[in-house]
Amino acid sequence: MADCLFCRIVAGDIDADIVRSGELTVAIRDINPQAPVHILIIPKEHLASAADLTPAHGPLLVELTTAAQWLAASEGIAQSGYRLVSNVGRDGGQTVDHLHVHLLGGRQMRWPPG
Ligand code: AMP
Ligand code: ZN
Repeated sequence: MADCLFCRIVAGDIDADIVRSGELTVAIRDINPQAPVHILIIPKEHLASAADLTPAHGPLLVELTTAAQWLAASEGIAQSGYRLVSNVGRDGGQTVDHLHVHLLGGRQMRWPPG
């Protein structure tokens, strides 16, 4: 999608700090980090949000998870722990309408989230 920020990053049209590129996903550092480690794991395919996932996306869901595990290890937070979150829609706080999973770590996360 030409007007989608994350599609343009995936296509290489907009610069980003890419930390991992897999078969189905790309991971970039968040431009406005909310924790010492804040990475976005983004499907190469445009999906508006997790609400658009279907059983056919099984391999994508696996890669979203295994990419998070790999990144947590490479960022040194696999043992201390981390949070994976995907915001959906207005009340979920989603601001970019291309599915992404936030990997947050390097500090104590609070619950409930704001
Ligand atoms: P969400 O609010 O859950 O949709 O998350 C969108 C995230 O994308 C926010 O944490 C933003 O800081 C981040 N973001 C927006 N533009 C960029 C960009 N050009 N490069 C990296 N991260 C971005
Ligand atoms: Zn997109």
